[in-house]
Amino acid sequence: MNTALAAAAAPRPILRERGQREVFCGLTGIIWLHRKVQDAFFLVVGSRTCAHLLQSAAGVMVFAEPRFATAIIEERDLAGLADANEELDRVVAKLLARRPEIKLLFLVGSCPSEVIKLDLSRAAARLSESQPGVKILNYSGSGIETTFTQGEDACLAALVPACPVAPTNARRLLIVGALPDIVEDQFRRLFAELGIERVDSLPPRRAKDLPQVGPGTVFLLAQPFLGDTAQALEDRGCKHLPALFPFGAEGTTAWLHAAAQAFGIDEMHFRAVVAPGRARAKRALERHAERLAGKTIFFMPDSQLEVPLARFLANELGMTPIEVGTPYLHRAHMADELIALPEGVLISEGQDVDKQLDRVRAAKPDLTVCGLGLANPLEREGLTTKWSIELVFSPVHGFDQAGDLAELFARPLVRRDKVASLPK
Ligand code: SF4
Repeated sequence: MNTALAAAAAPRPILRERGQREVFCGLTGIIWLHRKVQDAFFLVVGSRTCAHLLQSAAGVMVFAEPRFATAIIEERDLAGLADANEELDRVVAKLLARRPEIKLLFLVGSCPSEVIKLDLSRAAARLSESQPGVKILNYSGSGIETTFTQGEDACLAALVPACPVAPTNARRLLIVGALPDIVEDQFRRLFAELGIERVDSLPPRRAKDLPQVGPGTVFLLAQPFLGDTAQALEDRGCKHLPALFPFGAEGTTAWLHAAAQAFGIDEMHFRAVVAPGRARAKRALERHAERLAGKTIFFMPDSQLEVPLARFLANELGMTPIEVGTPYLHRAHMADELIALPEGVLISEGQDVDKQLDRVRAAKPDLTVCGLGLANPLEREGLTTKWSIELVFSPVHGFDQAGDLAELFARPLVRRDKVASLPK
């Protein structure tokens, strides 16, 4: 390794903070997961607060029969006056009788179910026996155990033991992480053009299509917040392909390249296949680079997408990240990203929100990426903000979404300039 690479690969100093945090809990993941797995149902075992969170965050997206609900734990359950297990069995039986199309049911734990120590893994096992034909699994989305995107990680990790065993000699690629169908299809077309024939996704679109996994499986993480899922797959003998995450032209090329190398795809063929998409992405980025280059950006910790996005914005659009906060930093999965991030960027893990807000105010960044709860107060103080939740809900991966991803960051700056130019 040359000196520059060795210096880049050296561990970066990371500011670790513990204190009050302003992040959604893992229940939020249900909002995109229920749209991805079309015959799954998410039954949150929680309080009215949990129900309100889901309804207000997802209410606008429900068009037909909803595929999530909350089994409310009432005060008498919390006081131990009722048998919560009996109550849960009754709710599940009623739900499955009314909705026979449900093939996969997740019992999702919450803060209240944890407080009363309701054992949802035992409940899932018990209910599986009485409900043949429905896969019943459980995971926790509670605010005590998870932040925001960790709900998806917990959900996918719960799916891994249910995946069938792949024949030992079967060489296959697994894309791990919930992607919009349109983006997943784009990647599948590229893998097919490269000559990688067997490609599966976790989560699948239908419960019956759970991927076979085994020692012949190599997997690419499409999302940077899937540490537990990756570990569960490795425990099944699968091999992780380290790579940049597929954001922007560079990230997408590196991500596809990791798979191409693992499948022994000829380098010239690889370049020929990715060239058109890569060129389209670069063209789409040029327009936004004019507005974004030289602008400073501060990421509050939220979705765990922060490090790859900061790398994309710095390297492909010329932005200057000041601080990149993330709720949790998976050192191994983020290794390539950390090397690619420019020198001098403060990386912080965890949150002590007041201290971090002091740093935002002192830095006065051109753009602050943060959760909904922080955005309005910061805007009132004159700072321009971007809601981080949009980055999770929008299609942002891959060559053909690179321009849209850049635009998500450019839009608040355009709005700021328009407001500034209004007559006083
Ligand atoms: Fe609130 Fe906990 Fe329910 Fe999340 S799981 S909505 S943090 S009570």
